[in-house]
Amino acid sequence: MLKQTLLYTGKAKSVYETDSADHLILVFRDDASAFNGEKIEQLDRKGKVNNRFNAFIMEKLAEAGIETHFEKLLSPTEVLVKKLQMIPVECVMRNYAAGSLCRRLGIEEGKELVPPTFELFFKDDALGDPMVNESQAISLGWATEEQLAQMKDLTQKVNVVLKDLFAKGGMLLVDFKLEFGVFHDRIVLGDEFSPDGCRLWDKETKKKLDKDRFRQGLGGVVEAYEEVAARIGVDLSDI
Ligand code: ADP
Ligand code: UDP
Repeated sequence: MLKQTLLYTGKAKSVYETDSADHLILVFRDDASAFNGEKIEQLDRKGKVNNRFNAFIMEKLAEAGIETHFEKLLSPTEVLVKKLQMIPVECVMRNYAAGSLCRRLGIEEGKELVPPTFELFFKDDALGDPMVNESQAISLGWATEEQLAQMKDLTQKVNVVLKDLFAKGGMLLVDFKLEFGVFHDRIVLGDEFSPDGCRLWDKETKKKLDKDRFRQGLGGVVEAYEEVAARIGVDLSDI
């Protein structure tokens, strides 16, 4: 598959067209960003680590019957994916309170959420990704009621699979964000799953092993991502 025109440069990845109308190439860069692009740094190896990490997770999800855009790794930083018509809504599932939920509702970090909460955010950098509800997403034409129901159902399935995967590595999956798109009328999981878009804590010590290390200036960001990868069996030996 040939890499062609650059379509989009995001905060962490670049998106290229290919010679297939149904495929794109995503390039994972070393850029880290937080607070809606206010804090930006280059973190050596992050692109390679996240590309390999994401491929591992997408394969696990496919094995569990969840359709994803992942096709194959092309290089340490590049992945071939199905080209989706992205739905501009981020799906967030939370098993424990953290981040914006604590700020919004004054809840203590770490409170277990039973059952896990499901939230939607409008993907719009200029507006700072505001929270939206299902009714707004439908009325504004971003997704149909049926598509939103499928996205929620798929997010719950992902949670079941990944909570278990990370638990086996001694970690709590605190929360995570997914993006979906449409591929030939089907809802398919797109974008990425990596420690950039989820929260993971060591089960015993509650040490943060995700992008909060970058947000909060705790250091050892990529080292923590590599530790998570090692604990769940992602092979990073050749990158
Ligand atoms: P952001 O846009 O939030 O800065 P990234 O740097 O990760 O994020 O950029 C990647 C972009 O590619 C995102 O806008 C994401 O929605 C989009 N994207 C991810 N997977 C696909 C796909 N399979 N088809 C089309 N677009 C995709
Ligand atoms: N998240 C993300 N991209 C976003 C917003 C959130 O990947 O644009 C992830 C974030 O890393 C966390 C979860 O979604 O794992 C919930 O994020 P939250 O709403 O708490 O926002 P934050 O405080 O992280 O900005």
